[in-house]
Amino acid sequence: RVCVAAACQSTGSLPVLEALTQANTDDCCKVKGVGCMGLCSAGPMVAVAPKDGGIPESVLYREVKPEDAAEVLASVGGPLVERLHCPTDQPFFTRQMRIVREHSGIIDPDSFKGYVAVGGYAGLIKALTEMTPADVLREMTTSGLRGRGGGGYPTGLKWSTIAKMPPGQKYVICNGDEGDPGAFMDRAVLESDPHRVLEGMAIAAYAVGASKGYVYVRAEYPLAVERLTTAIKKAKRAGFIGNKIADTQFSFEVEIRLGAGAFVCGEETALMASIEGLRGQPRPRPPYPAESGLWGCPTLINNVETFANIAPIITNGGEWFAGIGTEKSKGTKVFALAGSISHIGLIEVPMGITLREIIEEIGGGCPGGKAFKAVQTGGPSGGCIPAQHLDIGVDYDSLKTLGTMMGSGGMIVMDETCDMVDVARYFMEFCMTESCGKCTPCRTGTWQMHELLDRIAKSRGTPKDLVLLEELCEVVQATSLCGLGQSAPNPVLSTLRYFRDEYEEKLAGR
Ligand code: SF4
Repeated sequence: RVCVAAACQSTGSLPVLEALTQANTDDCCKVKGVGCMGLCSAGPMVAVAPKDGGIPESVLYREVKPEDAAEVLASVGGPLVERLHCPTDQPFFTRQMRIVREHSGIIDPDSFKGYVAVGGYAGLIKALTEMTPADVLREMTTSGLRGRGGGGYPTGLKWSTIAKMPPGQKYVICNGDEGDPGAFMDRAVLESDPHRVLEGMAIAAYAVGASKGYVYVRAEYPLAVERLTTAIKKAKRAGFIGNKIADTQFSFEVEIRLGAGAFVCGEETALMASIEGLRGQPRPRPPYPAESGLWGCPTLINNVETFANIAPIITNGGEWFAGIGTEKSKGTKVFALAGSISHIGLIEVPMGITLREIIEEIGGGCPGGKAFKAVQTGGPSGGCIPAQHLDIGVDYDSLKTLGTMMGSGGMIVMDETCDMVDVARYFMEFCMTESCGKCTPCRTGTWQMHELLDRIAKSRGTPKDLVLLEELCEVVQATSLCGLGQSAPNPVLSTLRYFRDEYEEKLAGR
């Protein structure tokens, strides 16, 4: 199995796949491309297993080159290639719990049969043939699943609200407009297991009474778009999308809509405007999409990871899912580890695991013996968490007490060399650039805050600049129209909360 997701492709996994296929002259092995194996910084990743061996018997190789092909093939049932070996008994692998990513790195994302062979579409068939829509809603509520896009709204409650709307045209939208710097969870799910997302959408459509779905994906994710397109075609051909699915009266069509790279289109009202062909700008709420969404119809919007959780909940039951995680945050969460951390990549862990376990054990700490300084969670809407809070459990609610949020799962780790004023300036520049300009506090406030931060970062600021900056943070937070503006001050406020001395040093000209 050769990882052919975006990260491993960027380090040359396609030539490795080609070389292994060529070297497999006597067809002694089956060579296939698979989705993300998680340890992106060690790519190209290749896993080999004996013919009758299961996934646990796999041997993992890292940084494989095309010229290693013959040796890697010979190691199937032969001696290990020590220099390439990536031990899987290290915490990066053993501390994970994979639900969303259970098939990633195992199945060929382009293979419909491969997905079905690992139990794919069993959840949809069960829902359609053994359950009423009300049963599905009950199971979702029991599971305690909350939206993985960052808001954490209870999925069962959201679905029930839409199901209660009068019958008529309803829509299901999958939000794949992942845009936080350092976040690549949804991208990897779409590239590695696209059928899982489609299956979740179809189950949701059945539960709420929708017949049409859209997947809104960033055009910057061409591989995800390609694999999703293939998956839709194959699922349609096999009768899992389209008319009268599984010989029932239920019909569900899915289309892909490409986002043009505007971060604000991750906000659901802006996303719907974009699907409608309008400029992607948020509008005030209420009305909420559940009542009046796409073209004024009740609309369910969840993100990629949320939909990827649905099939196993239906297959295994809501109670099974509710048994994982914490009291108020159930299940697992996929995180993207980036920045100054030894193991850059994707992990999936039970909710409630501590930041220390994620960063020091699973992530292997900061490379080169550098000391950990802070981790940014929640992207530009979140904040940084310093070393003294590393023992906090990661879930929707606990991180808010530290002035940040779990967000959609991006974690950018910073070491002792990191300048925190510069971090705040970077995120403010991001928000300023991505502001859609519709409301004044965000449009001009982010620009002004960036100016102030720039002056302070260059040691040209005055104490009055810091006062103005804090005042602006309050105003922009309180008066912006959508989440982008409301949360834009968060990185400034959290760096001020934990690293105020660095601001003061800059003001003192040091
Ligand atoms: Fe646009 Fe910013 Fe206002 Fe949101 S807060 S509507 S992004 S200007």
